[in-house]
Amino acid sequence: MPIINRIAEYAAEMTGWRQHLHRNPELSLDCHETARFVVSKLREFGISHIHEGIAQSGVVAIIDGQGAGPVTGLRADMDALPMEEETGADYRSQVPGKMHACGHDGHTAMLLGAAKYLAETRRFSGKVALIFQPAEETIGGGRIMVEEGIMERFGIEEVYALHTDPARPLGCFSTRPGPLMAAVDDFELVLTGRGGHAAHPDACIDPVPCALAIGQALQTVVSRNTDPLQSLVVSLTVIQTGSASNVIPETARLAGTVRSFDPAIRDMAERRIREIVDGQAQAYGVSAQLDYLRSYPPTINHAAQTRFAADVAREISPDVTEEAVPSMGAEDFSYMLEARPGAFLYLGQGVGPFCHHPKFDFNDEAAPMGASFFARLIETRQPLNV
Ligand SMILES: [Zn+2]
Ligand SMILES: [Zn+2]
Repeated sequence: MPIINRIAEYAAEMTGWRQHLHRNPELSLDCHETARFVVSKLREFGISHIHEGIAQSGVVAIIDGQGAGPVTGLRADMDALPMEEETGADYRSQVPGKMHACGHDGHTAMLLGAAKYLAETRRFSGKVALIFQPAEETIGGGRIMVEEGIMERFGIEEVYALHTDPARPLGCFSTRPGPLMAAVDDFELVLTGRGGHAAHPDACIDPVPCALAIGQALQTVVSRNTDPLQSLVVSLTVIQTGSASNVIPETARLAGTVRSFDPAIRDMAERRIREIVDGQAQAYGVSAQLDYLRSYPPTINHAAQTRFAADVAREISPDVTEEAVPSMGAEDFSYMLEARPGAFLYLGQGVGPFCHHPKFDFNDEAAPMGASFFARLIETRQPLNV
């Protein structure tokens, strides 16, 4: 069975929802208007168990099936990015400096599409928990919803999510068991010496050579300290210092990001970065203030749930792979997968500008496929008790 016929019938309506969301992007935890739109649609569909204000603007809605059965969580993220849109679409962002450039408008529309169908047909037992979360792009709205207890409060046993993929053909579902996306850590470093006249370096403590030495030494964390068969990224992305050619600056600011899959590699990278910073600071006689922030954990799919989800996807599309290459990008659905078994899948929308590009746009043709996937996932996992 490809796209569910009933869902295909309201594909145009889903496009309308998606383009409304695209016109009205919101950032981080402040997705209140988006949430209001989601709730108004859910009420139209006859869903009455709606819980708002989780992680500030997150929503969990429960659809009751027929008779006792499991509870499955389906998640969509709702937030946009702080950037200017260049798509030229007639439904382009109406908010300067904000844009849906990661397809979260499409994710929300797909989950609403599944909600409409599931609420109308209720050909399943147990319950569905629809999870609409803010702040995927920033501080981890997914983490906050888990910390605020949605898994326990709503009895959620498994969780599933889709992300649109502009690097694969339309309708291609791809995933893999185990690590799919990386853990993220960010660091900020301030080196403080003693500034002064550049003609008298002996009277100063120059933080610039120390910043350069640290920049060089950080390259060895991957090249010399990491098992060549493992994955690690250490990117030094900021070196800010100095204001004039004849002034030795007082401080230098460095920042960067670390991406990993394996917890031992992640620990090693943090330890080596701390050792390098401390050692170089001592060697150059500057003081170092390092803030090392552990952010999203790796996104690790559970094997049985990934196989199940891929089998469901095969009902919708002939193009399904369970051998996707892991990405060093990150995703805060990782927190939900730490809390409950489940799977994260990409849904190809046709090859075009990549996520976070000003010309990226969600392909509305993918929405009925994503909605059908979610709907069939529930009907398959939670069949009617006969
Ligand atoms: Zn993104
Ligand atoms: Zn995204």
